[in-house]
Amino acid sequence: MGFYLITIEQAWITAGGRCQCMRLSHGHDNARCNRQLVLENRDCEGAGSWSAHHIDPKGGDILSNCEILCGECKEKIDDTEVEPSGKFGANSG
Ligand SMILES: [Zn+2]
Ligand SMILES: [Zn+2]
Repeated sequence: MGFYLITIEQAWITAGGRCQCMRLSHGHDNARCNRQLVLENRDCEGAGSWSAHHIDPKGGDILSNCEILCGECKEKIDDTEVEPSGKFGANSG
């Protein structure tokens, strides 16, 4: 599972080499994170690191489902957007 390199490169160009995260809960100064990233630092740690992220986990490995995220945002999202491992069985409603 993962994006083709060509898809990631396209997404990188679309993103302008900056984090595309727009999640309000992250408290970015602007609507978008826009952190400047370093191309060589993909899947690394530290300054300028970034990853290609699936916007919709079930959306497939296509360009429109590929989001460029800085290491910081990726970490926050991994913490909060964990796929549910089972049904929760809530019956209120
Ligand atoms: Zn970010
Ligand atoms: Zn963010």
